[in-house]
Amino acid sequence: MSEEKDGIIVILSSPSGAGKTTLVKRISIENNYKISISHTTRKPRTNEVDGKDYFFVNEDKFQKLIDKGEFLEYAKVFENFYGSTKSKVIEHLNNGENVIFDIDWQGTEQIKKKKLNYKLITFFILPPSRTELFNRLKNRDMKDKNIVEKRMNQFNKDINHWENYDFVVINDNLDTCYKEIIKLINKKKENPNYSYDKKNIQNHIQKLRR
Ligand code: ADP
Ligand code: 5GP
Repeated sequence: MSEEKDGIIVILSSPSGAGKTTLVKRISIENNYKISISHTTRKPRTNEVDGKDYFFVNEDKFQKLIDKGEFLEYAKVFENFYGSTKSKVIEHLNNGENVIFDIDWQGTEQIKKKKLNYKLITFFILPPSRTELFNRLKNRDMKDKNIVEKRMNQFNKDINHWENYDFVVINDNLDTCYKEIIKLINKKKENPNYSYDKKNIQNHIQKLRR
């Protein structure tokens, strides 16, 4: 069982471009959550800093971390490897610090299966519309049309995983979405059985599939 003094784990997943990295940063800054900084074999974007946004490593180094059993979870996403290492995360949690993860559905499933002795709250973030998602990806990944296309193509598959999360939240207005996530974390901490109205989300998912 988790102890009252331990930190909690919060996971945010979403189709690429829905805004989870932006939300994770804000939750970390405003609520003092520690971010689990992933390792990846993906190349850095222009504004990304090694050791802050990711630990950028080659496949050889990534494989060595797998072999040494350093990962809590890892997965291949869009042809690159991504993984969350254990030691820092566990240290934070045992110190009573909350830890937030920006990982995909495969990593979330792996962490859920581990049944760690810490409270775990999972969120799936959706964009308000396909058009808005396209615009966000286009603005972020301007230089590489290929990336935007690949990520839009993956979108229909990615949204199928929404049902495996504790909560699904739409990131239309950033402020509103952020406040909703904080509200839901507090509700779930007070009442582990707290759930949400799925009907709204089901309708939204149908609209997004069109
Ligand atoms: P993800 O981590 O889910 O791939 P990002 O956090 O990188 O997505 O967001 C994708 C882009 O959309 C970024 O350029 C970010 O600044 C922007 N963005 C995120 N949330 C919003 C929002 N609510 N409204 C408008 N733009 C947003
Ligand atoms: P991006 O390349 O846009 O930063 O991330 C691509 C995808 O990889 C996103 O869905 C993101 O959540 C996921 N991701 C980032 N880090 C990890 C990780 O450590 N593990 C897993 N499983 N997915 C990750």
